[in-house]
Amino acid sequence: MKKTLKCKHCGNEDLFYTKEKYKGEFEFCMDKEGNPVFNADIHEGATYELRSKYIFCRECDKRVCRIDEFESGEE
Ligand SMILES: [Zn+2]
Repeated sequence: MKKTLKCKHCGNEDLFYTKEKYKGEFEFCMDKEGNPVFNADIHEGATYELRSKYIFCRECDKRVCRIDEFESGEE
Protein backbone atom coordinates (compact mmCIF):
# COMPACT_ATOMS: atom_id res chain seq x y z
CA MET A 1 0.00 0.00 0.00
CA LYS A 2 1.36 3.36 -1.02
CA LYS A 3 1.97 5.79 1.78
CA THR A 4 -0.12 8.93 1.60
CA LEU A 5 0.29 12.28 3.23
CA LYS A 6 -2.05 13.54 5.87
CA CYS A 7 -1.53 16.45 8.21
CA LYS A 8 -1.94 15.30 11.77
CA HIS A 9 -2.37 18.89 12.89
CA CYS A 10 -5.39 19.94 10.84
CA GLY A 11 -6.41 16.79 8.95
CA ASN A 12 -5.58 18.13 5.49
CA GLU A 13 -5.01 15.37 2.94
CA ASP A 14 -4.92 17.37 -0.26
CA LEU A 15 -2.27 20.05 -0.50
CA PHE A 16 1.32 19.92 0.65
CA TYR A 17 4.53 21.59 -0.35
CA THR A 18 8.27 21.48 0.03
CA LYS A 19 10.54 24.48 0.12
CA GLU A 20 12.86 24.72 -2.82
CA LYS A 21 15.11 27.21 -4.47
CA TYR A 22 16.74 27.27 -7.82
CA LYS A 23 19.81 28.73 -9.32
CA GLY A 24 21.16 28.97 -12.80
CA GLU A 25 22.75 31.16 -15.34
CA PHE A 26 21.59 32.58 -18.59
CA GLU A 27 22.78 34.87 -21.32
CA PHE A 28 21.32 38.28 -20.78
CA CYS A 29 20.83 39.87 -24.17
CA MET A 30 21.17 43.59 -24.72
CA ASP A 31 21.39 45.89 -27.64
CA LYS A 32 24.31 48.16 -28.52
CA GLU A 33 23.17 50.74 -25.94
CA GLY A 34 22.91 48.22 -23.15
CA ASN A 35 19.14 48.03 -23.15
CA PRO A 36 17.85 44.59 -22.29
CA VAL A 37 16.37 42.63 -25.15
CA PHE A 38 13.54 40.23 -24.44
CA ASN A 39 15.00 36.99 -23.14
CA ALA A 40 12.70 34.11 -23.87
CA ASP A 41 14.82 31.36 -22.36
CA ILE A 42 15.60 33.10 -19.11
CA HIS A 43 14.90 30.03 -17.00
CA GLU A 44 16.47 27.51 -19.29
CA GLY A 45 19.37 25.85 -17.54
CA ALA A 46 18.14 26.70 -14.08
CA THR A 47 18.75 23.95 -11.61
CA TYR A 48 16.43 23.30 -8.73
CA GLU A 49 17.73 22.18 -5.42
CA LEU A 50 15.82 21.09 -2.41
CA ARG A 51 16.06 23.46 0.51
CA SER A 52 14.06 21.68 3.17
CA LYS A 53 14.02 18.16 4.52
CA TYR A 54 10.34 18.35 5.31
CA ILE A 55 7.00 18.26 3.62
CA PHE A 56 4.71 20.99 4.89
CA CYS A 57 0.96 21.29 5.09
CA ARG A 58 -0.46 23.88 2.72
CA GLU A 59 -3.32 24.55 5.10
CA CYS A 60 -1.58 25.15 8.42
CA ASP A 61 2.10 25.35 7.38
CA LYS A 62 3.17 22.78 9.93
CA ARG A 63 5.63 19.99 9.19
CA VAL A 64 3.91 16.81 8.08
CA CYS A 65 6.86 14.46 7.74
CA ARG A 66 10.39 14.18 6.46
CA ILE A 67 10.74 13.86 2.71
CA ASP A 68 13.12 10.93 2.89
CA GLU A 69 10.81 9.07 5.26
CA PHE A 70 7.87 9.60 2.94
CA GLU A 71 9.78 8.46 -0.13
CA SER A 72 11.12 5.39 1.58
CA GLY A 73 7.59 4.49 2.70
CA GLU A 74 8.53 3.98 6.33
CA GLU A 75 6.50 5.25 9.21
ZN1 LIG B 1 -2.24 20.97 8.44
